[in-house]
Amino acid sequence: PAMLSNLQQQPADALLALIKLFDADPRADKIDLGVGVYRTGQGDTPVFGAIKAAERKLVAEQDSKAYLGPEGDMGFVTALMPYIFGKASPDMGGRIEGMQTPGGTGSLRLALAMVKRAGYSRVIVGKPSWPNHNQICADLGLAVSEFNHAGADGKPDMDAIRAAVAGAAEGDCILLHGCCHNPTGIDYSNAQWDEIAGLIAEAKLLPIIDLAYQGLGLGMEEDAYGLRRVLVAVPEALIAYSCDKNFGLYRDRVGALYAMVSDPTELGRIMSNGHNLARASWSQPPDHGAAAVRLVLEDETLTAQWLDELDQMRDRMRQVRAILAAAGKVGGVDLAPVGGQNGLFSIIPFTPDQVQEMRSRHGIYFAGSGRINVAGLTTANIQNFIDATAEVTG
Ligand code: PMP
Repeated sequence: PAMLSNLQQQPADALLALIKLFDADPRADKIDLGVGVYRTGQGDTPVFGAIKAAERKLVAEQDSKAYLGPEGDMGFVTALMPYIFGKASPDMGGRIEGMQTPGGTGSLRLALAMVKRAGYSRVIVGKPSWPNHNQICADLGLAVSEFNHAGADGKPDMDAIRAAVAGAAEGDCILLHGCCHNPTGIDYSNAQWDEIAGLIAEAKLLPIIDLAYQGLGLGMEEDAYGLRRVLVAVPEALIAYSCDKNFGLYRDRVGALYAMVSDPTELGRIMSNGHNLARASWSQPPDHGAAAVRLVLEDETLTAQWLDELDQMRDRMRQVRAILAAAGKVGGVDLAPVGGQNGLFSIIPFTPDQVQEMRSRHGIYFAGSGRINVAGLTTANIQNFIDATAEVTG
């Protein structure tokens, strides 16, 4: 009998469906605060100048596209390490090794498949989180235990993470956003990371740190504080890294997985599992974007240009956040906390009905959770957003 017909209809990804709704809206002043890409003050998502220059070099100089292997471009993987783990000791004395992956998603997929293979059975995750965290765990048969990420005050709910770690069992790992929390924008302070690092170490939990927005929050070094703080406290960790936001490479799928272990002689054996899982999934990661990042990082001038472009992105998002925060209470919501949050996203406490009204009455599109992409706001449309928010929530 034909069995493919056993497959049930799956829900469309809500955010991708939102893009279609937005495109179909004929209003000229519509605003897209949905999908998570950076936009300039003109509403564009341009290719970084540093990446364009690296791509030109790549086209001119690349002499082969022969296979590299499941680990991908190791020059890329190594060149990123000082930025992630610090220039003082980029591999923590030989304890860290990485491999290239298709985006941060590929890295998370491998990290979670590795913990499953290692015998872990449950992942502790803050709620809400990026929906794909739960989706990948479910697909791999890993149980998920959720704790409340943020309190009503727009700050991290420290009691909830304390309780989650205290209640952890053997075979648990904990998945944390390194910075620019998606979807809330609510990050731990350095002092809170200090405490969390101690809690994780004491509970002997394996940390998996998802760093998908380094440099979009407070700065490249600042945004790595939590990750580095956790790594010095624990014997082992996995790090899922994405270059898709901080190099603007989204569709080129650029990421890396790093493992930190206590005994450097075990690294090869542990990472062979990453290679083997990659082989069984996508065989080899796509080369182009990672090669462009490597060329940027190998060239001082291009590196400076990249960091400068990243600074401009971050400054713009901070300006948008400052304008929203200065608006304070509008209608029934308080925009002030947005000013202290980081990265592309914040959640505005719209009710589901209000989310619909923002769409139908004002042509302003964002996720049903009330998550907005702050980079979708520009000097031309930010007052419309504030006025619409006041009208719909008032
Ligand atoms: N982690 C988080 C928290 C994210 O928000 C994203 C992207 N939306 C990713 C990982 C993965 O990014 P990508 O696969 O596009 O590199």
